Amino acid sequence: MAPAPARWDLAVVGAGPAGAATALGALRADPDLRVALLDRADFPRDKACGDGVAPHVLDLLAGVGVTGLVDDRVPVGRLRLGRGRLVAERRMARPAWVVPRRILDARLVDAAVAAGARLLRHRVRDLRQRTDAVVLDGEISAAVVVGADGAHSVVRRALGRPCGPMALALRGYAPVGPGRRGAQVIEFGTRHQPSYAWSFDCGDGLANVGYGELLHEDRPAPTRAQLLERLEALLPDATESGRHWVGHHLPLSTARWRLPTGRVLLVGDAACLVNPLTGEGIHYAVATGIAAGRAAAAALRDRRPEGAGERYARATHRILLPHLRHTALAARLARSTRVIEAGLRASAAHQRVFDDFVELGLARGRLTPTVALGLGRAFLASIRPSGRPQEPA
Ligand SMILES: Cc1cc2nc3c(=O)[nH]c(=O)nc-3n(C[C@H](O)[C@H](O)[C@H](O)COP(=O)(O)OP(=O)(O)OC[C@H]3O[C@@H](n4cnc5c(N)ncnc54)[C@H](O)[C@@H]3O)c2cc1C
Repeated sequence: MAPAPARWDLAVVGAGPAGAATALGALRADPDLRVALLDRADFPRDKACGDGVAPHVLDLLAGVGVTGLVDDRVPVGRLRLGRGRLVAERRMARPAWVVPRRILDARLVDAAVAAGARLLRHRVRDLRQRTDAVVLDGEISAAVVVGADGAHSVVRRALGRPCGPMALALRGYAPVGPGRRGAQVIEFGTRHQPSYAWSFDCGDGLANVGYGELLHEDRPAPTRAQLLERLEALLPDATESGRHWVGHHLPLSTARWRLPTGRVLLVGDAACLVNPLTGEGIHYAVATGIAAGRAAAAALRDRRPEGAGERYARATHRILLPHLRHTALAARLARSTRVIEAGLRASAAHQRVFDDFVELGLARGRLTPTVALGLGRAFLASIRPSGRPQEPA
């Protein structure tokens, strides 16, 4: 006879930022919960990422008792956005952080384990929903399961839910280039829209450098060599002495984003939550993870685990949907070179426009009246009496 499955209150598949945050959210609400945090990898492990961490992420984590996460890191105060000769460089309202994921994710997992989660090395391949539980691989049974297993989520596939558009990005670590120290530098592409290259100063002599672009169904995905070539074309010398190159898909959010209900919840990349403007996903991962953990704990407390998904969806749709609609619209507009240039001009001219763009790209901001007015003015200013846009200054 097969051994009885191990029974958990909550099983979280994937121990990246979304999974660790789920465990933290649940255990903060009820420290007695039996929470399994499953990952196919041992920690610390690397993850293809720009390593840019918005300050909002730290606020969310402080809310579940995790502090001091970046005490030994160097904050990055400046952000430079560029496209060819057009540049908007300003101080951000709050500094951001660049924390290699090998470090960040291990610290988050440690915090989840310290809060009471059991970290188990396990690659999930199969998910079955029964009336009273969800069973993973016939071995692990839980009242509620949260899929935090990233862009190619097995849990999402088991629910039969597709993602929308995908981007592909490659990153490595290279010595920080002159003129790129102490800054997060983003250079928008000119040939492959939408696309951008980045150089994020890690504060230890190295920068996280990379390039990403939207994938199109009617075109082959770019090769590694092409991604490197495009990075180098946008940020000359960025790849020199670069190492540890890895690429990965980014499942971009859309205006039609919706969560499933029931006992199986999706968070972070597994829920197709990457900002289509910036490729930022850690903030969404942590925000949805904490919300899912809290919803699971509340549903378990009420002895209605089958209601966990609905609770989570209600809370999350209310907070995130308006923002996702704004980012989807902004991403559509940003396919136009003229709009990107107007955005850069407006950001260079007005700190508030710059700040609102940063908020839209990194956290839960919206296309504010300030942004709309700034864009409109910059656009009009770029039109010659002939009606043709002027060349960038
Ligand atoms: C090149 C690149 C640059 C990026 N730059 C940034 C950036 O600068 N800032 C930012 O905020 N975001 C960035 N992102 C997006 C960000 O990396 C993701 O949004 C974020 O990692 C999502 O976190 P997650 O916990 O949902 O998923 P992940 O971090 O992908 O974690 C998923 C976890 O699930 C585990 N797993 C997967 N399948 C299974 C399975 N079947 N069974 C068990 N475990 C499993 C994996 O081992 C992994 O640990 C970037 C992405 C890419 C590709």
